Amino acid sequence: MNTNNHAGIGMTSQRTRDRLISRLEEKGIKNDRVLEAMRMTPRHLFVDEALASRAYEDTALPIGHKQTISQPYVVARMTEAILKDGIPEKVLEIGTGSGYQAAILAAIVKEVYTVERIEPLYQQARRRAMQMGLRNIRFKLSDGSWGWESYAPYDAIVVTAAPKEIPQALIDQLDVNGRLVIPVGKTSEVQDLLLLHKTPDGIQQERLDLVSFVPLIQGGV
Ligand code: SAH
Repeated sequence: MNTNNHAGIGMTSQRTRDRLISRLEEKGIKNDRVLEAMRMTPRHLFVDEALASRAYEDTALPIGHKQTISQPYVVARMTEAILKDGIPEKVLEIGTGSGYQAAILAAIVKEVYTVERIEPLYQQARRRAMQMGLRNIRFKLSDGSWGWESYAPYDAIVVTAAPKEIPQALIDQLDVNGRLVIPVGKTSEVQDLLLLHKTPDGIQQERLDLVSFVPLIQGGV
């Protein structure tokens, strides 16, 4: 029998997935909604079949086009960060990639909007979501540094590629009381994971972690 089987046996079994959840708890993830969404979402279906056996390791994996599916811990950390005082209704994600982070969000919030600039990744993520019956995600092929104006404002925004500076459009499209989580850095090796909170009196900012994301590429698609 093939232990890499996409049907969810062997290395992709529920037990293997549960081990990842225990790891996330050990690393400090506490939010039950996040842990449950990650326990239920089959990450092996978001990577190439050849990598399926590694899908429940806590590591980023290549998804082609020089891009990666984020490390599960980082997905959990970012998702937890936007759930600080309750469940947001409308969330914008920049950098669809495999569609995994969008699927985690879709398991928790009412509406997910996600923007990707590489067409084959956008197409594949859309197809996956359809096959999985995830109907509350809308996909857009565009440069996400402009956000997605037509559905703004958003209760939360999750950016999964790293710009050198926070794009102003994203701050503008965040609702009052909304949260924006974004890796920001001058180098491609390491960035600060920032959490912004838009209050009626202005923007509050805290640093959550050091992370390593692929760059947010601005301009043109
Ligand atoms: N959230 C993804 C991880 C994505 S990796 C997942 O769960 O799999 C970062 C993604 O951001 C890549 O797919 C990359 O193509 C995309 N990206 C980079 N610059 C972008 C931009 N300006 N607008 C939209 N997407 C962008």
